[in-house]
Amino acid sequence: MLFNFNKPSLLFAFTFLCNICLFAQPINKYRVYFGTAGNNLLIMRSFERGGQPFYLAADVNTLTTRLYPAAQLKVMPGTLTQFITKLNNTAYGRAITAAQQQSNNLQDAGIAHGFPKEKGISLTIDLCPSHKPLDRVIFISLINAFKKVKTPVPVALSITGRFMLTHGDDIEWLKGLQKAGDLDITWINHTYNHHFNPRIPLKENFLLEPGTDVNFEILGTEQAMLQHGLTPSVFFRFPGLISDRSLVDKITSYGLIPVGSDAWLAKGQNASSGSIVLIHGNGNEPVGVKDFIKLLSAQTPEIMSKQWLLYDLSETVEDEFSANRR
Ligand SMILES: [Zn+2]
Repeated sequence: MLFNFNKPSLLFAFTFLCNICLFAQPINKYRVYFGTAGNNLLIMRSFERGGQPFYLAADVNTLTTRLYPAAQLKVMPGTLTQFITKLNNTAYGRAITAAQQQSNNLQDAGIAHGFPKEKGISLTIDLCPSHKPLDRVIFISLINAFKKVKTPVPVALSITGRFMLTHGDDIEWLKGLQKAGDLDITWINHTYNHHFNPRIPLKENFLLEPGTDVNFEILGTEQAMLQHGLTPSVFFRFPGLISDRSLVDKITSYGLIPVGSDAWLAKGQNASSGSIVLIHGNGNEPVGVKDFIKLLSAQTPEIMSKQWLLYDLSETVEDEFSANRR
């Protein structure tokens, strides 16, 4: 006989197929929906998958997100403004308020630096639209550098809708590393189209380009992430790190926290303790990737003695804005 089924393996196969069916189901009725549940959940979106209602919710203390079947939560609906006032004592409330207050810069608005407990950085890798394959060497170098020190390795990936359209294999590869316990990925919304025109001034470029459908750029990306089996985080990264006050207000009105960078390596900015480092992983920034790998090997002795670590972005922002830091 070719196959020998027993009950547990049949059950496993059935569960596996159900999960696949659920992922293959389109996301419908995706919308902004604010509410609270329990002591620490902020509901941010509601949607249907396979006819079942779901919520995307953030833990306001840890800044992590999860999907919940709607039937599991008792939700008190309300407006984000009401909740932000109430959440003033949480890491989420403080971080989103700080991001709103730092919104005047044309470049690099939002949270750009954290205060990790020990020496180290948070790594963010932008996946802007690109015809080139993912720079897999970054991830392989990270996993190798930290395999005896910290697993899974925390990284935050800022992903665009257009990258997802053409990099299905790369996304599956990354999900495989996450599943294997090698990487712990925070998925940041980096907009769907990420328009850029090198001939126009920055104040009308990227997301500031007149006629941009910001609602689609945000929700279309989140929907595409869910369709690929990725859970959107509470974080948002502006394309080109370019924004203005009204754009920051718009992004935060979706409950999202803009994250900048104080160490864009390819621009010659150096990483220091607590930096939110930016490199590009879409094959278009070999200098930044080379610099990062150089930084990793320069830190090898410190990495091995746990004096230089990579921090989870949620943890870094949580640390910076938790009540006991004020
Ligand atoms: Zn980008």
